[in-house]
Amino acid sequence: MTEAKPQPLDIGTSATYAQRAARVIPGGVNSPVRAFRGVGGHPVYMADARGARMRDVDGNTYIDLVGSWGPLILGHAHPEVVDALARAAAGGTSYGAPTLGEIELAEEIVSRTPCEKVRLVSSGTEATMSAVRLARAATGRDKIVKFAGCYHGHADYFLAAAGSGVATLGHPDSPGVPASAAADTIVVPYNDADAVEAAFAAHPGAVAAVITEALPGNMGAVAPLEGFNERLYEIARANGALLISDEVMTGFRVGPGGLAAPADLYTYGKVMGGGLPAAAFGGRAELMDLVSPAGPVYQAGTLSGNPLAVAAGLATLRACDEAVYRRLDATAEALARMAGEALAKAGVPHCVSAPSNLFSVFFTEGPVRNFDDASAQDTEAYGAFFHAMLESGVYLPPSAYECWFVSAAMDEEALSHIEQVLPQAAEAAARVRS
Ligand SMILES: *Cc1c(COP(=O)(O)O)cnc(C)c1O
Repeated sequence: MTEAKPQPLDIGTSATYAQRAARVIPGGVNSPVRAFRGVGGHPVYMADARGARMRDVDGNTYIDLVGSWGPLILGHAHPEVVDALARAAAGGTSYGAPTLGEIELAEEIVSRTPCEKVRLVSSGTEATMSAVRLARAATGRDKIVKFAGCYHGHADYFLAAAGSGVATLGHPDSPGVPASAAADTIVVPYNDADAVEAAFAAHPGAVAAVITEALPGNMGAVAPLEGFNERLYEIARANGALLISDEVMTGFRVGPGGLAAPADLYTYGKVMGGGLPAAAFGGRAELMDLVSPAGPVYQAGTLSGNPLAVAAGLATLRACDEAVYRRLDATAEALARMAGEALAKAGVPHCVSAPSNLFSVFFTEGPVRNFDDASAQDTEAYGAFFHAMLESGVYLPPSAYECWFVSAAMDEEALSHIEQVLPQAAEAAARVRS
């Protein structure tokens, strides 16, 4: 599909698909951000993809800067991943009994990260839920501290909004979340260690864990202040609580072992499944051995350690050598620079935040240190920028609050195409403002 001019697929259009989908799926999508509500218009429905490019049902080809929101670090349909999947599928897709592949994937993760033991699950949401349960069991406490703008999946107690004061208990951030679940969550501003200390002081002996993204990527890419992750670890420790470092997005992407900042428990997902549903939580053996059946903390999954997901994850991790990370870093750096130059030239207030190969372009002057800073963005200007890029064959995240994800499949041709079309997209953003 990358070589020849793409043939339109005679299977309907994105506009008709959007209508048809909305009849049977809430909002026409199976995860909200895909619906383009953050940028307007209707989503494009994808037909197939290879390498750095995706093709929609209308026959348009896009250079992909979403990468399935992180997992596709090698690009789409990487031959080694496809081969591993085909071999695994031919041997049966699930047994509900343990396999060698699970041991190999766990060994691969343990060899790259601070974890001594890991439990495989099927989604990042499950990984963080299980890590919180384990932290609660290990400490005998119920409350957790989380940061505004950090995302840890959709368990009830993560969908909490800050109370009236920094150290007060959270309120439900979605209908359906019991007030009691949100009340166990204390939401504080990111990069504010004093607020974390205040939360502990306000709830002595009650906080089981602080959960953080080692390098937040779910409000755009926001760098932790120098020493922030280390400080969190010290504060948690001094108060008899655990630190959970959520590396579902950063793990195996920002480097071979993720950020690997000091913590008690870690969660992984996205890249480790190579585009299939696989995730994990892990930590010191002494903590992980509290998990059933080694210990009393219940945790289970019909498809946990699924042979296909494990095969795709292993093939992906094994292909992620130093050269891949160098390539990702260089590509991200080039893209961040190009986007910044185009927006500067067009006079669009912006701030390029590139703490690693996970980067984002905020449509506000910056600096962006927390969710309040990120919320100052001109999302309308981003919408215009997004749609101009989409029409020019570049698929950016359909929300101003997301990172741009590069893959190792990004080639020179893709980069120079992006460089060529960025200026007119920046102009489109500038027109919205004026
Ligand atoms: C994506 C993400 C999750 C949730 O993972 P799912 O597989 O979507 O459930 C949790 N934490 C972080 C940091 C993430 O980026």
